[in-house]
Amino acid sequence: MLNPRRLSTEIDALRWQEAGACREADLRLFFSPDGDEDSGTERAAERRRRLRQAIRICEQCPVRLVCRRYALENGEKFGVWGGLTETERRRIRSQAHEERHDRLRSAESLGEAA
Ligand code: SF4
Repeated sequence: MLNPRRLSTEIDALRWQEAGACREADLRLFFSPDGDEDSGTERAAERRRRLRQAIRICEQCPVRLVCRRYALENGEKFGVWGGLTETERRRIRSQAHEERHDRLRSAESLGEAA
């Protein structure tokens, strides 16, 4: 069931998007026509050109860091967010996952030693 209070909170949390530099840009620069950056019919040279243009817009965006954090925290799979490509975000999430795993393993081995 729709919770109006929760919906309102979520909308407030996304207000930063109104200040995004991409609001005036061609959003096709930010998303692959194939959905996934690493597959489909978009040629590599075209993809590099598109991503460069999108990242250039992000570099001038006043909410870049908020956008980046939002995308990482919410597991946004597609598109350029906060100047990071899909591949870069995947790599960051994977590193963070491994680091968490390593910390847990260290904590467990400390517990076993005690
Ligand atoms: S950082 Fe990039 S994707 Fe995010 S709001 Fe700004 S321009 Fe848009």
